[in-house]
Amino acid sequence: MEFEPVIGLEVHAQLKTDTKIFCGCSTKFGGKPNTHTCPVCLGMPGVLPVLNRKVVEYTIKMALAVNCSVERESRFARKNYFYPDLPKGYQISQYELPISLNGWIDIDLEKETRRIGITRIHMEEDAGKLTHELGRPVSLVDLNRTGIPLMEIVSEPDIRTPEEAGAYLRKIRSILRYLDISDGNMEEGSFRCDANISIRPKGSVPFGTRAEIKNLNSFKNVEKAINYEIYRQQEVILDGGEVVQETRLFDPDKVKTFSMRGKEDAHDYRYFPDPDLLPLVIEEEWVNQVRAGMPELGDQKKERYIKEFSLSAYDAGVLTASRETANFFEACVKEYKEPKQIANWIMVSLMGLLNAEGKSIEESPVTPGGLAGLIRLIDKGTISGKIAKTVFEEMAKTGKDPETVVEEKGLVQVSDAGELETIIKAIIESSQEQVGQYRAGKTKLMGFFVGQVMKETRGKANPKIVNEILKKFLDE
Ligand code: ADP
Ligand code: MG
Ligand code: ZN
Repeated sequence: MEFEPVIGLEVHAQLKTDTKIFCGCSTKFGGKPNTHTCPVCLGMPGVLPVLNRKVVEYTIKMALAVNCSVERESRFARKNYFYPDLPKGYQISQYELPISLNGWIDIDLEKETRRIGITRIHMEEDAGKLTHELGRPVSLVDLNRTGIPLMEIVSEPDIRTPEEAGAYLRKIRSILRYLDISDGNMEEGSFRCDANISIRPKGSVPFGTRAEIKNLNSFKNVEKAINYEIYRQQEVILDGGEVVQETRLFDPDKVKTFSMRGKEDAHDYRYFPDPDLLPLVIEEEWVNQVRAGMPELGDQKKERYIKEFSLSAYDAGVLTASRETANFFEACVKEYKEPKQIANWIMVSLMGLLNAEGKSIEESPVTPGGLAGLIRLIDKGTISGKIAKTVFEEMAKTGKDPETVVEEKGLVQVSDAGELETIIKAIIESSQEQVGQYRAGKTKLMGFFVGQVMKETRGKANPKIVNEILKKFLDE
């Protein structure tokens, strides 16, 4: 029997506000434990939460970016449960009436583009953090994180493969970063993902029972966990068993998921509207203002690059996949308007270099001005395309600009016809045998002569001029 996986993802993105969602405490990472706290986020009796306007604005931005509604009226609810990192005994979250519903994003896969539905987006507060020290049988509670604003983005169960899940998450993160509303940093916990997975016999319509996997802290782990879970559920079914609805944890070392607890149903949380917070009413005018201030997003940039710069869809897609890469590309084009060549250099040489060194494009040792300058030197004929690779490597190593590297290393291309003629004459004289063969019809030997000239000039001869002179001498 063949199975088809069904996957839905819940993303929690920490919003980049200065203060928490319901109080004025700092959201800065890494403060001394419990210093970014106040009676509100500590859950003291008698205090009242006040909604942070920026949190709403950022969520409206995201809703618009992923084709979701912005609901005129939404509500905050209390999600009740007991845990030591939750001082109030409940988490304020949106439940029945979230701020945003029914959107979609397109994800680019190797062979196709797929549309993934977005069920809802809502706002909520984060809980605190428990830490444990080796050898001390206690839990330490840090409440700096309680009340940090989160946005939860819930996908439809439209995802079918681990690769699609990865592409979906990358796209969501890219949008968050284009909007500048979240760092989207998975390793630091500002971008977290729970994966819901079920399988069904291929061709069947109803969904199977799902497991929800938590503790996914990298893109690689999301894909690995989903892969494992698909395999596990298949084994369960093929052994005649049944998949149970539950929450599972992923262990990255063992590359397996483990049962954590039976999945609680919504009623276990005794959700009810938070009586301390008024219903949130968003006027049309505010939405229009936010819409007017939206930056150009990746998909729009991609379309523009294809039209304005005649780039291929693939190249435009790679360059706009992240805001940082698009910024770098546009900065280069501003310096020197050769978008196609710039795209090539970024995608091949620069990305290769950054990958090898594990750096982001923002940490690139080669600046946009440097890369543009390098391409300008090729176009002017100062250096050959081949030598340019050497210059690029030297720029990456030393951070010097291309003109300096070319000068210091004496890499200027030899285009002086007189100089080249002298060199070529000498080569022809000492290669009489090959000259004879060439003139007898073995024209493939042209490559041999070019090679000799390049050897003599240490690769610096202008290939076009070399070819012209060789032809003139050999064909006479
Ligand atoms: P909860 O709040 O209990 O996690 P939701 O109904 O909000 O439940 O669904 C959470 C996620 O689970 C959504 O992303 C949804 O697409 C996904 N999902 C729902 N049913 C299935 C299923 N049978 N298989 C895989 N994913 C599912
Ligand atoms: Mg869930
Ligand atoms: Zn506070």
